[in-house]
Amino acid sequence: MTDWVFDFVHGDKDSKDLLGGKGANLAEMTRLGLPVPPGFTITTEACRAYLADGVEPSALRVQVTMALRRLENQLGRRLGDVVDPLLVSVRSGAKFSMPGMMETVLNVGLNDYSVAGLAEAANDERFAWDSYRRLLQMFGRTVLGVDPEVFDHAFSSLKDGRADTDLSADDLREAVQRFKDLIVEHADREFPQDPREQLDMSMRAVFDSWNTPRARIYRRRERIPHDLGTAVNVCAMVFGNLGETSGTGVCFTRDPASGRSGVYGDYLPNAQGEDVVAGIRTPLALDEFDKLDPTSSQQLRTAMRRLETHYRDLCDIEFTVERGKLWLLQTRVGKRTPAAAFRIAAQLVDEQLITLDEALSRVTGQQFVQLMFPQFDPKAPRELVTTGLAASPGAAAGRAVFDSAAAVEWAARGEPVILVRRETNPDDLEGMIAAAGVLTARGGKTSHAAVVARGMGRTCVCGAEELDVDPVARKARAGQLSFAEGDRIAIDGSTGAVFLGEVPVVDSPVSRYLAEGLEVALSEADDETAELVRAVDRLLTHADEVRRLKVRANADSGEDARRARALGAEGIGLCRTEHMFLGDRRGLIEKVILAETADERDTALSMLLPVQRADFLELLTEMAGLPVTIRLLDPPLHEFLPDRADLLVKVARAEERGESSAVDSKLLAAVERLHESNPMLGLRGVRLGLVVPGLFKLQVRAVAEATAELRANGVDARPEIMVPLVGSAMELHLIRQEIVEVVAEVAAEQGVELTFPIGTMIELPRAALTADRIAEEAEFFSFGTNDLTQTTWGFSRDDVEAAFFATYLDKGVFTVSPFETLDEIGVGQLIEIAVERGRGKRPDLHLGVCGEHGGDPVSVHFFHRVGLDYVSCSPFRVPVARLEAGRAAI
Ligand code: PEP
Ligand code: MG
Repeated sequence: MTDWVFDFVHGDKDSKDLLGGKGANLAEMTRLGLPVPPGFTITTEACRAYLADGVEPSALRVQVTMALRRLENQLGRRLGDVVDPLLVSVRSGAKFSMPGMMETVLNVGLNDYSVAGLAEAANDERFAWDSYRRLLQMFGRTVLGVDPEVFDHAFSSLKDGRADTDLSADDLREAVQRFKDLIVEHADREFPQDPREQLDMSMRAVFDSWNTPRARIYRRRERIPHDLGTAVNVCAMVFGNLGETSGTGVCFTRDPASGRSGVYGDYLPNAQGEDVVAGIRTPLALDEFDKLDPTSSQQLRTAMRRLETHYRDLCDIEFTVERGKLWLLQTRVGKRTPAAAFRIAAQLVDEQLITLDEALSRVTGQQFVQLMFPQFDPKAPRELVTTGLAASPGAAAGRAVFDSAAAVEWAARGEPVILVRRETNPDDLEGMIAAAGVLTARGGKTSHAAVVARGMGRTCVCGAEELDVDPVARKARAGQLSFAEGDRIAIDGSTGAVFLGEVPVVDSPVSRYLAEGLEVALSEADDETAELVRAVDRLLTHADEVRRLKVRANADSGEDARRARALGAEGIGLCRTEHMFLGDRRGLIEKVILAETADERDTALSMLLPVQRADFLELLTEMAGLPVTIRLLDPPLHEFLPDRADLLVKVARAEERGESSAVDSKLLAAVERLHESNPMLGLRGVRLGLVVPGLFKLQVRAVAEATAELRANGVDARPEIMVPLVGSAMELHLIRQEIVEVVAEVAAEQGVELTFPIGTMIELPRAALTADRIAEEAEFFSFGTNDLTQTTWGFSRDDVEAAFFATYLDKGVFTVSPFETLDEIGVGQLIEIAVERGRGKRPDLHLGVCGEHGGDPVSVHFFHRVGLDYVSCSPFRVPVARLEAGRAAI
């Protein structure tokens, strides 16, 4: 029989697939002997079974009964009993943390009778009724689907301006009655008095919350598959709201925002867990907690050290103090900002808790990218509105918007926005995704806004308490300064500053380090920045030492090549020569296309020659000593001609005026002749080379002449010629003959030895499948994964993202666009086949990739695994690819 339920004493931190992250870590803490309230976890497998059938397996119900009985026996109390009742929390917990996205119900087991038992056991009637009130509110919203506003509104009118803490037991009893009535009114049923029914319904609600729209949006963003399901953790309740000797908090073993070493946390006296995360009151810092309750806080510090040593990483911990007794309710290896990730990894190496290899595995290319983002110019003038907490770093500027819908709407118009809220709740998720930054007036660094923003790398300033936010009037004010919807503001997530108007940005210290070296970057850095830059340098250097994959850049100008080389590129993997035919050179290629006789075409081609040669001279000089893969012309010729519709209008108008131009008519005829319905599948790449005599020859001659000239001047020029869009070995065979011929001609003319590698792109399924034949003609392959993805899926790379990818992502056809991260199962298989067949024929075949995937952090690992020699990506991505190639090798 399947085991659907595990007590916390079974399982460990490595069973996240089955128990979810929270359940696995609760089990681990229990095994370590830390003070965790007892309980049990219902597995993700049970969730999947429930979601598939719409009803829980009957064996699950039996297993829950047995687990509940064990829990009751252990504690000597019964769920929802009239005397000293056991109450439980019912919490979600998926394999990957999804903070605030799914449901939680606390105080399950309270009813009209057990409330009295709780009052007596706690010797606090007010507390018991407050707990019952909270259960009704949470259960009503989460399980019965009542709009939370309904309860909030009733509660506000009952409070009549008083604070929660000023309400008496009688007030709260009154609130309970009103809430029960509201449930009947809005959910069409009574609140279930049977504790077990409460438990079962809460469990199902948590299962169901896996599929709420906000959970799906979150998963799509974080690339979490939709089919994992969530576990449910049922845990004996402990109370942080039992008066001033109780409280609840969240702490971190290091600062997750900056990476500063030393513990850090928030504590809220006399409160339940959700109050901290919701950011309703601004909590105390840990050193204030030390003064308030030295015993508990000392125990907490001991537990933090223990957990950090055990996990050998930054941990975050949720805890509750119930009348002076500390309980740990959750821990996990904590989410952190990119800067914190690098600093902490290096610190842990220094503390000899992890090796450099492990440190490298703890940082990601995604995080690295974020560190390269620009920052506000510290020297520029600015108008400070207020300062909040630095919750998630970055420099974000945009127009102020005051709700999620407005954020989505403005962003869709291409306007960067800052979402300004009193506090955020999970329903703001879409707005947070759309916004460049998030600013809240309330809540600590562990509030929902902060946690979610950090998780998705969004800049965030929270707890800017001076800021009076009015979402109805859509404006905010702090002291004398105010701003309204549409006004420009800027927030600095590294300092918490909020500015009015525009503030210019400058390069980040990490970009400066990458472009200008360690010394320059350190020369202007404060201590924290210097620690970060040193950490980046150390991990990147280590990545360079361990990686097998070389990293080249896609570049087609001298400037790009120079930048790429400075960023560590070890050559050029793709020079798209068509980029050299744009701008004012378009006229030259136009002449080639319009030529009517061989002579005319030769003249036109000969005019292109010096221009191309100059291009290659520059590129090969910048990359002296390193390989430069030059790809012969790829796009369809009509791309170099004017737009057909524009031209038709122009010619028609001219005819009307009786001024028709021969040139335009000729152009139009050429455009008509070259028009294709599917140009991406049409006359391009090698096909052009075969159909337009002299075109590829001209390019090869330019390369050969440039190389001969440079070599004569002592420059180590190392070009490689690459033929695009080959589908058959014969195509390559024919073009190869031409290339060899031209190179030999130039060599003879110049009286030098001249050979260089000739290879092809593999970007059509047929090329991959016939790689053994093609390898006979090619010294190297470079996978063009953009076209290979397009042709394998049959998706037009220019159209589909807008047309239907959103639906596909939503329906779980894929979790990320296959144009962004390589589809390993499909396209990847073709690459594996090509590698195997190509190397089978030619063991020294050199292999690389130059599609966009070459710079994608996830895909780099695949290219390492299948044995490519290098990846090639845009210059900006080179450092990321170096880091990921290192991570792939450990
Ligand atoms: C490719 O198809 O992956 C490629 C690199 O070529 P292009 O993007 O220029 O078609
Ligand atoms: Mg291509």
